[in-house]
Amino acid sequence: MKIGIIGAGQLGRMLALAGYPLGSRFRFLDRSSDAPGAQVGEIVLGRFDDAEQLAALANSVDLMTFDVENVPADLLYDIADKINFLPPVPALETAQDRLREKRLFAELEIPTPRWQPVDSLDALHAAVDDIDLPAIVKTCRLGYDGRGQTVLRKLEDLQPAWERFAGVPLILEQFVRYEREVSIIGVRSTEGETAYYALTENVHEHGILRHSLAPYDVPNLQRLAEKYLQRVFDRYDYAGVLTIEFFVIDGKLVANEIAPRVHNSGHWTIEGAVTSQFENHIRAIRGLPLGDTSGLGHAAMVNFLGQLPVLEPVLAIRGAHYHDYGKSPRPMRKLGHCTITAETAAARDEGLLSLLALVG
Ligand code: AMP
Repeated sequence: MKIGIIGAGQLGRMLALAGYPLGSRFRFLDRSSDAPGAQVGEIVLGRFDDAEQLAALANSVDLMTFDVENVPADLLYDIADKINFLPPVPALETAQDRLREKRLFAELEIPTPRWQPVDSLDALHAAVDDIDLPAIVKTCRLGYDGRGQTVLRKLEDLQPAWERFAGVPLILEQFVRYEREVSIIGVRSTEGETAYYALTENVHEHGILRHSLAPYDVPNLQRLAEKYLQRVFDRYDYAGVLTIEFFVIDGKLVANEIAPRVHNSGHWTIEGAVTSQFENHIRAIRGLPLGDTSGLGHAAMVNFLGQLPVLEPVLAIRGAHYHDYGKSPRPMRKLGHCTITAETAAARDEGLLSLLALVG
């Protein structure tokens, strides 16, 4: 079973590492021949909008999936006509566009911050009149890890924000004051089987995930998050792993965004759950029985951004699992991560503190 993955980043690499024991083999499409996936599979060199190379990959594999979201949907629809392509293209197309995403949440009655589409400076003023300040303006497309967005605190911020993003569709969102950020990761197989991981608490800095803690053990929110995820599964006749990120506000879940793929906030599942998100994604798209998503105690995951900490002191922390993606360093680039697993939350938190002291 040869699986093609669009994008050979760390997510693709971890998918391949999980898929090999199940007999899957991997080929990636990527612009770079030394992307993380190159260590564990063949690379077809090409851009993500290169129709010819996409077709070349599709012609050489049995099944296709992706580790990047920014692939033109029209090209993927062509591919999905010819070969099994999962998760479904419409789910990816929705996640690529914040306006579509917000409309999906509205349709499925999943609460979000208040929002308005913006296509002119006048529309931005009208949206601010309606939503009030502070607010956050985001580009509808190509925004990730805090890029493509800016906070508006006073009326004088509107004109510069408009000029900064002029020409692309925008969305204005109410700036919410949340207690915490959490995510739910679930998986649905082509056979319709579903399974859910424990809610994960995520701590971001400058829009980039710094660390995650699991489980975020609040049973009523767990049930609600699973219900919301189930609605998205049903809407797309989904197969694969799917993530929804939420804000917790006044003890309630308010959705921020969906990711139709394995997710950074689920890296702890490699050592902290019976079956990882990566293995379950492969099982799901191949139509195999899903693996148990139960947690094995308590886990913390810390991203290594910009530089890798020295290996030995990290490994000396009890329950530490070090992941080096094999990327060259660049400021704030995700180069690796470490997961701490422990039997109790207190032991996990102690390990996390030691790890954070090494990461800086
Ligand atoms: P996003 O790219 O939408 O995931 O946003 C990146 C980060 O910005 C989030 O993880 C939040 O920390 C923050 N953020 C995004 N939207 C809002 C909002 N409406 N109100 C407050 N903070 C937000």
